[in-house]
Amino acid sequence: MSREHTAEHVLMGCLQRIKGNLKVRKVEFSEGTGSVIVEVDSLSFNELAEAQVLANRVISEGRVVKEHFFNSLEDAQKTFPNLRAHEERIKGRVRVVEIDGFDYSACTGEHVGNTRECGIILVTHVSKSGGEYRIDFEVGDKALETAVRLSTLCLSISSILGSPIRNLEKTVLNMRMENEDMRRRLSAVTEQLVSNTLSKTVLGEVEFHKGLLKGVDIRTVMKTVGELIGRSRSVYVIGMEWLGACNILVGSSDGRVKAAELVRGVCKAFNGKGGGDEKIAVGSLPCDAYTKAVEEIEKTVLRLLGN
Ligand SMILES: [Zn+2]
Repeated sequence: MSREHTAEHVLMGCLQRIKGNLKVRKVEFSEGTGSVIVEVDSLSFNELAEAQVLANRVISEGRVVKEHFFNSLEDAQKTFPNLRAHEERIKGRVRVVEIDGFDYSACTGEHVGNTRECGIILVTHVSKSGGEYRIDFEVGDKALETAVRLSTLCLSISSILGSPIRNLEKTVLNMRMENEDMRRRLSAVTEQLVSNTLSKTVLGEVEFHKGLLKGVDIRTVMKTVGELIGRSRSVYVIGMEWLGACNILVGSSDGRVKAAELVRGVCKAFNGKGGGDEKIAVGSLPCDAYTKAVEEIEKTVLRLLGN
């Protein structure tokens, strides 16, 4: 794994130049790939791109990889002030690996003799945890193949979104904002529909609400019904339909009407599936059956409530 390891030295050397200060905490290598955990204040995608461009330049320059030995870390640091070292781990004799005139790192691992042997380096994933970043990368042919696949993926996404690659980030951010706004609007409209458009019958001390709703957000219906049955003793039976997907929801705060039992019953009868608890249950059903299922549940509810 000396190719991967040497490429990691070069990449860290580049990041060190860009960021000024960083600490390598852990490295792992396997054939063609590597991961490095690095402690650094911040790391933007632009900085990461800059580091990779520089690293690939250094690799292609064919720099010789040298080694130097010192009796202590202090001695090594006197000779190489920019030395990267995991101080806590070093005791006594120190081996410094030099990427000729570019990077100096205290290391005991195996390296190639010349940076050109690394081929190319490509960062394939970055994740952040606390003040540490995990950077996954590939080298050589594997990196080249991944670079081609990733750039083609970008072309494909650009074509799907109808947005040039240079605008992709902006386009996706706008879409995400629009999507969040739409969700909020849908939730608000769904809440209004549940609260205002269902038919209401008063059966003694219990309110019975039922109706069919189109295009609503099921999660909001569940949440709203959950709140409404908490406010007064009531039962809700709602059929929902949108683009070929049909659902029923039962909500109940009357002990005689058990939501999950009713939903499971009609799902069994009409070839659907669903579940929940005594208070709220949801089932999905074939669309030619869901209005019948609502009627069936209505009959049962009226019977259970003594009508
Ligand atoms: Zn090393």
